[in-house]
Amino acid sequence: MARLLVTGGAGFLGSHLCDRLIERGDDVLCVDNYYTGSKENLFHLRDNPRLELMRHDVTFPLYVEVDRIFNLACPASPIHYQRDPVQTTKTSVHGAINMLGLAKRIGARILQASTSEVYGNPEVHPQIEGYWGSVNPIGPRSCYDEGKRCAETLFFDYWRQSQLEIKVMRIFNTYGPRMHPNDGRVVSTFIVQALKGDPITIFGDGTQTRSFCYVDDLIDGMVRLMDAPAEFVGPVNVGNPEEFTMLELAQKVLKLVGSNSKLEFLPLPQDDPKQRRPDISLARSALDWQPRVSLDDGLAETVTYFRKRLDA
Ligand code: NAD
Ligand code: UDP
Repeated sequence: MARLLVTGGAGFLGSHLCDRLIERGDDVLCVDNYYTGSKENLFHLRDNPRLELMRHDVTFPLYVEVDRIFNLACPASPIHYQRDPVQTTKTSVHGAINMLGLAKRIGARILQASTSEVYGNPEVHPQIEGYWGSVNPIGPRSCYDEGKRCAETLFFDYWRQSQLEIKVMRIFNTYGPRMHPNDGRVVSTFIVQALKGDPITIFGDGTQTRSFCYVDDLIDGMVRLMDAPAEFVGPVNVGNPEEFTMLELAQKVLKLVGSNSKLEFLPLPQDDPKQRRPDISLARSALDWQPRVSLDDGLAETVTYFRKRLDA
């Protein structure tokens, strides 16, 4: 049994991570300021003595004693992270500095939830970890992309300078139950639109691609990375390499839901990456990890979740 800190633990990925860690018998301290997350995501664990909730903003120092830190705190959807871009950069950068400082003081291993956004609008396809990316430093997505890039820099500097045990995970688009219904991310948006019979909002011509990983697979990769030998620090891509256009995704969702929603074409947001697919050779070899859940199966689970949520 270990004592683990999960920052951003009340969010979509964080709450699934808390579930997984508690299931295997760890004690979890969840730290969150509830900016995009909610206590409801952890409501089912309210009587579980292994979980402790703490309201705290990671841009301020934190003094706790734990064995390991999963640093997930950061809004992740474009509409959320662009709402207060300065706070987004602060959360990534000051948050990383505070959590790395904590890890150094208490000698804890620390994992960073980084992102495929560090590759920007990629010129190398599929994306390998050695690719340095193509990121606009001054656009509307930059607060997130550059904040996450700077956090990676900090992780590697603490590793070189202070021999901290770090793990850097580049997460590609992940979906599943407990996504926020109004956060604008494409999977939750299309499902909610289809269930309500509202038009499906396709940005641009819908030929841009993404590769969608089901949340259970992603959490499996995250736990494997944290538990990997100290020498393996990453960065490592974790995502599902099956690539789809947004038009293909819309068709799948419409079919699954059995909806007659029309497609509505809207302008493509600035700096929206044209294509994205992870090369997961490193995760396969170093973590013995690969996704198991197909998009059809994962979407079916997610539709069931949103159907219940909308009914309630
Ligand atoms: P989310 O918005 O559901 O969760 C983020 C959590 O962090 C929320 O509970 C929020 O309240 C909390 N938070 C935000 N700012 C904070 C602060 N200053 N102090 C404390 N808590 C704060 O998003 P998610 O999808 O669960 O993403 C979790 C992490 O994974 C993020 O770091 C995100 O960048 C990364 N990531 C996610 C995806 C994805 O597809 N879901 C892809 C790449 C990277
Ligand atoms: N997208 C879309 N309609 C929507 C929301 C998103 O066509 O209602 C597109 C968006 O332009 C992008 C893709 O879906 O090309 C994924 O968007 P999301 O915000 O989920 O993730 P990210 O762009 O950060 O990968």
